[in-house]
Amino acid sequence: MVLDTRPSHAGAGMHPAREAHFCRKGQATLAAGPVPREARCGLFAEPPVSPELPAHNRPTLPGMVSQRSCPYYGARWALAPIPDLIHLVHGPVGCAFYGQTVRSQEYQLFSTDLAEKEVIFGTGEKLYRCLLEAFAVRPGARGALVYVTCTPGFLGEDLEATCRRAEKATGKRVVLVECPGFCGSSQAAGHDIAAEVLLTHFIGAGLFEGVRRTAADGVGHSGESAVNLVGEFNVRGDLDVIRSLLAQAGITVVCAFNADAPAGRMATAPLADLNLVHCRRTGLALAQGMQAKFDQPYLQVSFYGPGNVTASLREIGAALGREREVEAVIAAETPAGEKFWRQARRRLEGGRALLFFGGSRLGSMVGAFQELGLEVVVAGSQFGRRDDYTWAWEQVAPGTLLVDDANEGEIEFLLERYRPHLAVGGTKERYLCLKSGVPFLVFPQEGSPYAGYRGFTNLARDIIKALAAPVWRLIR
Ligand code: SF4
Repeated sequence: MVLDTRPSHAGAGMHPAREAHFCRKGQATLAAGPVPREARCGLFAEPPVSPELPAHNRPTLPGMVSQRSCPYYGARWALAPIPDLIHLVHGPVGCAFYGQTVRSQEYQLFSTDLAEKEVIFGTGEKLYRCLLEAFAVRPGARGALVYVTCTPGFLGEDLEATCRRAEKATGKRVVLVECPGFCGSSQAAGHDIAAEVLLTHFIGAGLFEGVRRTAADGVGHSGESAVNLVGEFNVRGDLDVIRSLLAQAGITVVCAFNADAPAGRMATAPLADLNLVHCRRTGLALAQGMQAKFDQPYLQVSFYGPGNVTASLREIGAALGREREVEAVIAAETPAGEKFWRQARRRLEGGRALLFFGGSRLGSMVGAFQELGLEVVVAGSQFGRRDDYTWAWEQVAPGTLLVDDANEGEIEFLLERYRPHLAVGGTKERYLCLKSGVPFLVFPQEGSPYAGYRGFTNLARDIIKALAAPVWRLIR
């Protein structure tokens, strides 16, 4: 599409090279077909995109203040919640500081704190000593993940040999996560690297002595079905809501990758009946890998918005032969919120919303806002790939603008052009929107869960609160 490139009132014009990253949904049909496996890795360019999708997975324009993170942070995002492993960042201490807080939660992180001396004389010895020290501090850890950042990535030492030496000395598994910041154009490459690490070294590997399928692992309970959740991050209790919905239908969650999946339990994950992919960006590659390796089927689901929740529960019920149980859950859960949802819809109907997500939630969240009667005029993502944009494309109405990796000037341009009633995004977009006089909802959310039927009530309540804040009366 050709976008109006006239400068905004702030003088922020659009760079011609950025035009391909803006795409309006028209009436044409998306080109179908699976994404080749090599195209999912950040190290390879994706095949040419359909003209109906914005250009994506390209390096950010030099000089543009992107909202993206590096592949190392993407790997941290996916692996940080594994509690029974040591997480050691091999690099300058700044990288560790950056990766300590993930989704607003702090995790214990070790660092080799590399300095000039190691850069000149080699980093291997310090890595070895740090691994021994970390295992001495946490003797109960089952193993260690060593995140390779830019500095050792450039040096090209044989860190694999150092890890094998540490394994010999400690008797514990030590795995390299090769995720230097320069190995991809955004954190999305790190998600893929993390998926490879889990698949190669932990899922079903039986690496650790004593790991056997047990009742406590949630597999094989008599009369119960078992699933893994892939790409679920448990933001503010989302996982608890999803787990409770499934439990009511007699379905146990074995592993929730990216939220609650200790290494010990991951060994039993292939025993589950089904994988449920909640976030396609972080979960689809892993689910496809598990299907290829363990012949384990997967379903793509969304637990955001009652329509999505009900449809997903029915699909899960059909896949597991639990249709009756699932219908009972839907019948028990929906009446409590319906009255409030109708009221909220009456209040929000016709409002324009501008959504910016990392990539992962674009497709799964759009439906929830539409169910509240909001018109999604812009749906943007920082690091979405073809899967993410395709899912979003399927959800949004014709005329919606899909945007990739928008910078501050472009966001300002879009706010001015669309005058949305509500903007949704991360901390990075928050203050720009608020200063532009647009009510803002932060996502990942900072209060209560948004998943499931109860979560939808929280989402509606938070939107109404954001719109009704007394401050807006002062500027209208
Ligand atoms: S870009 Fe490189 S140096 Fe910066 S945080 Fe990422 S890994 Fe560390």
